[in-house]
Amino acid sequence: MSQARGKVFLIGAGPGDPELMTLKAARALQLADVVLIDDLVSRGCLAHARSDARIIEVGKRGGCRSTPQAFIEKLLVLYAREGRAVARLKGGDPFVFGRGGEEVEALRAHGIEVEVIPGVTAGIAVPASLGIPVTHRKATHGVTFVTGHGAEVDWRALARCGTTLVIYMGLRNLAAIVAGLSAGGMDPRTPACIIENGTLRTQRQVVTTLGRLSADGMQAPAIVVVGDVVRYATPRSSRVRGSHDPLVRGSKRAA
Ligand code: SAH
Repeated sequence: MSQARGKVFLIGAGPGDPELMTLKAARALQLADVVLIDDLVSRGCLAHARSDARIIEVGKRGGCRSTPQAFIEKLLVLYAREGRAVARLKGGDPFVFGRGGEEVEALRAHGIEVEVIPGVTAGIAVPASLGIPVTHRKATHGVTFVTGHGAEVDWRALARCGTTLVIYMGLRNLAAIVAGLSAGGMDPRTPACIIENGTLRTQRQVVTTLGRLSADGMQAPAIVVVGDVVRYATPRSSRVRGSHDPLVRGSKRAA
C-alpha cells in the first residue's frame, strides 16, 4: 500500500462473515475516499470504511439485473483520475470468478495504478464452515474450482479427474451437472453437499450424495461440493461465538 491517492485497491472481502476479511483489506478500506461494493459483500465490511467515504453499490446476484461491467470500470477510472483512493470491494477473492482480472486490465489500459488484495474465497471457506477440508489427503489429491454457470464445462471429464469438485454458481444448472457427472461414471453414492450463505448467520446446508443432489429449496449464493471430502462434514455447532459481529462496534450495517 505504497501510495494512497489516485489508485484503485481491488479488494477481496472474503466469503461473508466480515471477520474473514484480511487486515490488509481493512486497512485499504480505511484509506478509501470512494468504495464500490458488490452485492455479495457483507455490509459489515463497511465498518472499516471512513464515515465520509462515498459508498457506491454495484452489481446484483446472478440472474438479476446488474450494473454493466463497463460502467463499473468507467467509475473506477473516473474516481482514480480525480486523484481519489478507490476501494473496489468484491466477494471472496477478486480473481476467483470475480471478473477482477478484467477490471485490472481495464484500469491498467488507462494507466491507473491498481493494487490487488486477495481475499478468502468461498470455495475454500464455505466448505470449511462445515469442517470440510477440500484437499484432505486421505480422500483426494486435489481440488477443482469450477463454475456451474457456463455450458462449456466438460462434466464427464471432471467426473474422472479424481479431485474434489467445488462448484460456484452451480444451482441453476445442477440437474445437468449431476447428469454429466453421472454420465462420466461418477458413483451416485459419492458424498456431496450444497451450502447456501456460507459463513453467515443465514447459512443453510444439505449434506447428501451425488445421486440425491437437488437444488430444490436452496438459493444463491451457494457452493456445491462433490467428493469424498464431504464425509468430513460436521454440524456447525463448534463455531467461534460472535464471529459475525463486525470488528468495529457501532456500525449500523450488519452482515
Ligand atoms: N469471487 C468470489 C466468487 C464470486 S462468484 C469468491 O472468491 O468467493 C459468486 C458465487 O460464489 C456464488 O454464486 C456462489 O456460488 C459463491 N459464493 C460466494 N459467497 C458465498 C457464500 N457466502 N456461500 C455460498 N456460496 C458463495
